Amino acid sequence: MSTIKISRENFFYNISQIARKTQSVEKIALVLKDNAYGHGLGIMAKLAQEAGIRHAVVRTMAEAWEIHERFETILVLSDTPVSDPGAKIRIAVNDRSHLEKIPTGTRVELKVDTGMHRNGISPTEFFQVLESLGAKGLKLSGVMTHYRSADEMGSELFWQRKRFERIRNEAEKLGIGEVRWHSCNSAALFRTTNFDEGIARIGIAAYGCLEMPNSFNVPPLKPVMSLWADRIATRELAPSERIGYGGEGVLSKGGIVSTYDIGYGDGWFRGDASRPYTLPDGRKIVGRVSMDAVTVEGKDESVQLFDDARRAAKQFDTIAYDILVKLSPAIVRVVE
Ligand SMILES: *Cc1c(COP(=O)(O)O)cnc(C)c1O
Repeated sequence: MSTIKISRENFFYNISQIARKTQSVEKIALVLKDNAYGHGLGIMAKLAQEAGIRHAVVRTMAEAWEIHERFETILVLSDTPVSDPGAKIRIAVNDRSHLEKIPTGTRVELKVDTGMHRNGISPTEFFQVLESLGAKGLKLSGVMTHYRSADEMGSELFWQRKRFERIRNEAEKLGIGEVRWHSCNSAALFRTTNFDEGIARIGIAAYGCLEMPNSFNVPPLKPVMSLWADRIATRELAPSERIGYGGEGVLSKGGIVSTYDIGYGDGWFRGDASRPYTLPDGRKIVGRVSMDAVTVEGKDESVQLFDDARRAAKQFDTIAYDILVKLSPAIVRVVE
């Protein structure tokens, strides 16, 4: 059976590094959306609680209910409850029209579009929306924004931040500064020198797969996930014998090969057999990836597919987030 191993030690290490930037573990809001970036929602919520994390961020109400007991607040990024979900849960308002659908009594956090132009209320409409909350029976508990280029060199982070600060200053003059204000994801936090916001919304750094240009001086973080697969079958091949669909795999000198129980059905990338994937130990996947199997030279009982999703991502021309979240929730996850 393929297995995802979760390193408790690496997660705790990453949280300690992040807490040095936020100045307190209590200011880390752990982003647990999309099955905790593939690590397993229940597992990571439990580890987060053990690490002293009090705040969580998820995508859906279903995720929020699943981890409800473990946190003081849960911010739901993109969903609408059917009735007031109570004091712990806050709903991010991504669009003005969303307000009509949120039940009376619900706590909301307004998202301001400071330049990413994805979700959020425009700064020109922000104060109107703010005023309308009371009439709609909604309770303001936070204001947030999201940066479009926090992980790249350039000034964009800074002008977006300026816009957000301007809104915050105006809001404070109107006496609504009391709620929590937050703008940082992982990359933005590590580019912030004097962090002074209510929380930082941390995903990829906690999972140890943050990638930023070296010049940003991010402390080394440790990948939390490694992926393994177990041997299904072994055979010895002659030099001319071809392996798998399309016969694309071949060992020039022949040799022993085994199949391992992971494939694109588990969310492992199918890739391109003419550019074979290299395992951390240097061996390659031979031939095409099947739905439920890959072939590797040798006969070990298990193989490690990756111990750092960033290196796997490079081989598939994508980002670590993409590798992590694609892994099927059905794969067994064990904490070590
Ligand atoms: C996913 C997400 C985050 C976390 O981003 P990382 O780069 O993984 O730290 C933060 N804020 C919002 C709004 C998000 O959607």
